[in-house]
Amino acid sequence: MTSIAFNHATVRDQADMVTFLRLCAERGLNTVSIWGDEIAKVGEENALRALCDHRMNVLGYNRIGPFVPEYLDRAEAELQRAARFGADHVSLFTGGLTKGHRDLYSARRRAEDMIAGLLNVARRIGVKLAIEPLHPMLVGDRTVIGSLTHANDLCEALGSGIGVIVDVYHVWWDERLETEILRAGQAGRLFGFHVNDWLVPTRHVLTDRGMMGDGIIDLAAIERMMRRAGFEGPIEVEIFSADWWARDPADVLDVALARCQHLFGRDIAI
Ligand code: ZN
Repeated sequence: MTSIAFNHATVRDQADMVTFLRLCAERGLNTVSIWGDEIAKVGEENALRALCDHRMNVLGYNRIGPFVPEYLDRAEAELQRAARFGADHVSLFTGGLTKGHRDLYSARRRAEDMIAGLLNVARRIGVKLAIEPLHPMLVGDRTVIGSLTHANDLCEALGSGIGVIVDVYHVWWDERLETEILRAGQAGRLFGFHVNDWLVPTRHVLTDRGMMGDGIIDLAAIERMMRRAGFEGPIEVEIFSADWWARDPADVLDVALARCQHLFGRDIAI
């Protein structure tokens, strides 16, 4: 049965992690994606207790990065914390070009080397790493991995323990979308599926994502691609939106659940 998971980022402005877990549990959900900085805000002990009290499973743990020394130094501790929370996978966030640099080719090679190093640590700890290619407009300042093709190439080169997250916002435009989803699926590397929508016009590429159904992405078609490729995981709602962050978090969850039920037309597990 299709299930829905929420990423805490969707309501993080008005619901701390403990509140977020309660709101999800009240709606019969059992899977969430979480953020290390939000754990720190409520304290790890409280976060773990709430997770346990609500019998909630952790899908994604955000995140390792950006790949600058201050974050890389604590990458191992982050991976260990993700393991304590039982996360299925940990997201990688490479960051964009270093200030003042223009050599994207070298920046990519450097990021790839760092991911290879992190993968060794993650394998030792026993957690999976997930590459989420971001929209090409974010390559300057957020990531140097801007397509599923690049992410799949990298996973293939690195071997086991690493896969991809398909976020509709970042990949919907890609003419290779179906091919690359299938490629990842056949290799057992489809770790996550994030949904939201692309608004026209988009006022801000980071903070103006749409609620599912309010934009122009054919969400049901992409979900079918995921299922045809063998993905069996939950549909994860992840909306970075100043507009939705300003609303009551319980309402945001309710609207998102109703939209998912409408769009994906299944017996959603809630
Ligand atoms: Zn995402």
